[in-house]
Amino acid sequence: MYPIDLSGKNGVILGVANDRSIAWAIAQVLAQAGARLAFTYQNDRLKDRVERLADTLDGSISLPCDASDDQQIIDLFQRIGDSFGDLSFLVHSIAFANREDLAGRFSDTGRDGFRLALEISAFSLIPLVKHAGPLMANGGSVIAMTFQASQKVYPGYNVMGTAKAALEHEVRQLAAEWGPDNVRVNAISAGPLDTLAARGIHGFLDMKRIHAEKAPLQRNITADEVARTALYLCSDLSSGVTGSVIPVDAGYHIMAV
Ligand code: NAD
Repeated sequence: MYPIDLSGKNGVILGVANDRSIAWAIAQVLAQAGARLAFTYQNDRLKDRVERLADTLDGSISLPCDASDDQQIIDLFQRIGDSFGDLSFLVHSIAFANREDLAGRFSDTGRDGFRLALEISAFSLIPLVKHAGPLMANGGSVIAMTFQASQKVYPGYNVMGTAKAALEHEVRQLAAEWGPDNVRVNAISAGPLDTLAARGIHGFLDMKRIHAEKAPLQRNITADEVARTALYLCSDLSSGVTGSVIPVDAGYHIMAV
């Protein structure tokens, strides 16, 4: 339990697939601080699992949202408005690319694979903020999840690095646009964590090992460390912070060799 009180605040968390998801770690910490949460599930295959997890947190609800479907995004915020009245934060913790685009030569990335990766992993933040923003009448905090492959070449990350670069730019663009409404938009750039999505990255285990060897803190991070940074970003402690990408990577990003 941390000395941050989010009671009376409502949030929506996109990206829980299972109990290893970064979104789930964030949800648990926000719920401990007293927030009421709406979870989304991508499809019927994930519905039961997300509902089972959501049911462990008092007052939470689960709603469908495939980020590739505009109508589902509109319906999501309609239903959140009906259930909660307002929103204080949104956590965008979703990404997708075809497996074949996360290995091999970047030059072989096809038009459809590029479009899909960018649409789900980057574009989706735009309509989500567009429809969440009006529910954040008392100000709000939006958090997106990114990775250092937006800035540097990680073999295997391929088109997802391009998507993360786009996502980080959107964070700045949206932060500038929504700042006058006191809606803050930031990203957390997490070090490697063993999740379903990470398993799709070619060479992920080597990446994790190298991070632990080279990072100033000489270890990998935990999902809970990401979650506590999300708690800071959702609270008034970060009231002056927007448009930022905050690395939670044991310091790996500062190292050259
Ligand atoms: P995860 O597999 O648990 O979560 C990915 C989520 O994306 C899943 O819940 C999935 O349902 C959702 N998703 C995919 N396509 C979707 C769609 N069309 N509509 C709605 N949701 C969709 O993996 P994770 O590692 O927790 O990933 C969460 C975020 O963190 C991603 O943006 C990822 O790139 C980022 N990230 C992960 C790491 C890592 O090492 N795991 C590091 C840095 C950033």
